[in-house]
This record gives sequence, C-alpha cells and structure tokens, in this order.
Amino acid sequence: MSATIIQSLLDKTKDFSIEETFAFLAEEYPGKVIFSTSFGQEDQVITDYIAKSNLDITIFTLDTGRLFQETYDVFHKTLKKYKKPIEVYFPEAASVENLLKEKGPNSFYDSVENRKECCFIRKVVPLRKALAGNAVWITGLRAEQSENRQDLSLFEYDGGFDIIKFNPLLKWTLQEVEDYLKDNNVPQNALHKKGFVSIGCAPCTRAIFPGEDIRAGRWYWESSHKECGLHGAKKE
Ligand code: SF4
Repeated sequence: MSATIIQSLLDKTKDFSIEETFAFLAEEYPGKVIFSTSFGQEDQVITDYIAKSNLDITIFTLDTGRLFQETYDVFHKTLKKYKKPIEVYFPEAASVENLLKEKGPNSFYDSVENRKECCFIRKVVPLRKALAGNAVWITGLRAEQSENRQDLSLFEYDGGFDIIKFNPLLKWTLQEVEDYLKDNNVPQNALHKKGFVSIGCAPCTRAIFPGEDIRAGRWYWESSHKECGLHGAKKE
C-alpha cells in the first residue's frame, strides 16, 4: 500500500519544482504536511521556501534543552524575518528529571546505549508527538550528508513513524545550499562560520576539520552510530 502511494507521488511530482511540490502536497493532504527544522543550513532553505509560499505547512522544531545559544539566535531571527510561527516540542519533563537523577547530566559520553537513551527521550519521543496525525513529513536530508543517506528517495515511507517523508533537497550539494542561503539572505547559524556543518545539541557537536566527513562532528567520540533515531527508521 505505502509503496503504491510513494510511486504515485514520485510520478505525479516528477516534473514539479520544489514550490510546486509543496503546493501539491498542501492541497493533497490539507493540514497534514509538517516540516521539522533544527535551523541547520538545509532546514533554513526549506523554511525560506515554505514561508514565502504562504502554504498551509506547519513548521516545528525539537527543543532538546541542550541546544547552542547560536541555534536559539537563528531561531529568533527566523521568526522575525518570516513572521511564520514555529511550533516547539520539548521532552517530557519527568523523563528528563529521571534520567538526570539516575545518570547525571552528561551520561551520553559514557556509552552508546546512554547516548541513544538521551536522544530517545529528548528527540525521538517529542518527534513522535509532533508527527502524530500528519501525513507528510518534510525533511532537509541530503544524500551526501552520510553514507546511509545515499539510497534515500525523494519520497519514502517511514515505517517507524508511519508517515510519508519528502526530502526535497536530496540531490542538492552543500555548495548549492550555501548559494541559496546567500542569494536569498536567509538567516544562518553563526556556528557555520566556525567550522560547524551539521549542528545538533551543544555537548554532542563539534566543528569539523577540512576534509572530514560532514557528520564527523556529531557524537564525535563515537566511531559509528552517527544517527539519533530521527531518520533511522526502517523503510517498507
Ligand atoms: Fe542528548 Fe546529545 Fe542526543 Fe542531544 S544529541 S539528545 S544531548 S545525546
């Protein structure tokens, strides 16, 4: 069933621009198209498209409680520029309280299991809440961001969250993203100028060195497992 829907969406939108695809989705799934932003470069491109289109597409973010001040700064600038509300989802207070009581504030450095536990509480559970009841989840994923994103499709079914994902920037290069942001005067996270490319929570992100993989700065103390469970769900 989901494979049929995905193929149909791919066929119907194959000659559409990003703006046309957004308009098509907003009409096809009224009130059920949602975009998750973490205010990274790709997400800012998509926010610019959505805000200018004035379409009925909800923008939301996950506030893990451990974000950089620079991320809040670009969040604030984005609200001021576009005047479009951005919904915010926080982790469940009781879960965070229990985690810190049992393991302290920096348990993610101790083991992969602890790190995944923190990501689950601060990201996956709030994401599940945000996506509930929606039909299409727009993401800023690009294929060149990591090896396990190479085989993604523009549209795909995410069985973990039971939702259709649309990845409009899938084939974009980092240069194209940067050019778009510059040409359209889009607010950007100040950390990008300090060598940060992929930006997540402050304690779990560092700048990358020239030639390093784009996601090398995420959970930099781990040798693998460079995902937090938001985009690792099994496809069907
Ligand atoms: Fe916790 Fe780090 Fe995951 Fe943020 S990225 S939720 S601080 S483990």
